[in-house]
Amino acid sequence: MGIQQIEVYPVTLAYREPFRIAPGASTESHNVIVKMVTDYGVYGWGEASPSERVTGETAETVIKAVDKIAPKLIGMFPLRIEQIVEVMDKLVAGNPSAKAAIDIALHDVFGKTARKELHRVLGGYRTEVLTDVTLSIKTPREMAKDAVKAVKRGFKALKVKVGVNPQEDVERVKLIREAVGDDVQIRIDANQGWTPKQAIQALNKMAKYNVQFAEQPVPAEDLKGLIEVKRNSPIPVMADESVHSPEDAIRLVKAEAVDLINIKLMKSGGIHKARKIAAIAEAAGIPCMIGCMGESEIGIAAGAHLAAAVRNIQYADLDSDLLLKDKLVKRGGTKVKKSMRVFPKIYGLGIRELDTAKLGKPLKTYKQ
Ligand code: MN
Repeated sequence: MGIQQIEVYPVTLAYREPFRIAPGASTESHNVIVKMVTDYGVYGWGEASPSERVTGETAETVIKAVDKIAPKLIGMFPLRIEQIVEVMDKLVAGNPSAKAAIDIALHDVFGKTARKELHRVLGGYRTEVLTDVTLSIKTPREMAKDAVKAVKRGFKALKVKVGVNPQEDVERVKLIREAVGDDVQIRIDANQGWTPKQAIQALNKMAKYNVQFAEQPVPAEDLKGLIEVKRNSPIPVMADESVHSPEDAIRLVKAEAVDLINIKLMKSGGIHKARKIAAIAEAAGIPCMIGCMGESEIGIAAGAHLAAAVRNIQYADLDSDLLLKDKLVKRGGTKVKKSMRVFPKIYGLGIRELDTAKLGKPLKTYKQ
């Protein structure tokens, strides 16, 4: 029983509207889909959604990394995930979203081989996951309008993008809180946009609007700044860009730099290492969130199954498939009902059928 064939499909998926965060805006997501075919009738889907800004990857580097890795995996038993991760790490350093595409496809195969939904074989802690929806940066007034629309669509949690201008950022949170009332969770994400001083001032002003936590207030590499913000913020501080790997998680835990960690499969290299980060954080008393880059329904399903499986993944920001206009999955995947990611009774990731016109023909096929 082994991996027989690996197919690679680059896809371009358009956003519904330009997605703007502190470092810039995107209009489309350039992702790479991987199909992992075994010789026992089971196949799995994986996805890379590379971010040049966060991990230095593009669709081209993902394809290059997979080209190094895929030929070596042909013939390996697909459930030896720990071993396959070791092989990947020995073949190429970094390239976490390329590795995530392979890792996610292996986990889809894992669930399908076990004939269970993936979250049930990964820990099975909960059966649905509350996700927020992200409000892209606009004027405070426009964002308050978007917030009301999101709440009308059923969302119980909003992730508010900030990090542009501290004064205006406080205004964003104020107008949104006033527009949606007290019952909606509001979390913010500055995407490294503030200095420590700006962050401390802004967070102290925002605290009265009941902000659940603040993601990545300062640049990723500014560990001192992060510690300073955490010590002086009335709002819990979450690391995102500062934590990619289990090694990063240990470093921040030791430095007592954050209250929370945002795990993303595209930073960690997939589910296998994401679970290690969650375990490290749990042992340190640090709850985690699972976030996303620009994944379609495939990558989002992987994050949602992991979040359902693991107790310490207490928050979810799994909404990129909703922000994308283009849909890759025709049947299956995790739907959102009243802010909850719910799972179909389909094994593995729960992807039944892809839109073959959107997916196109494989760019590369690796086999024996
Ligand atoms: Mn973030």
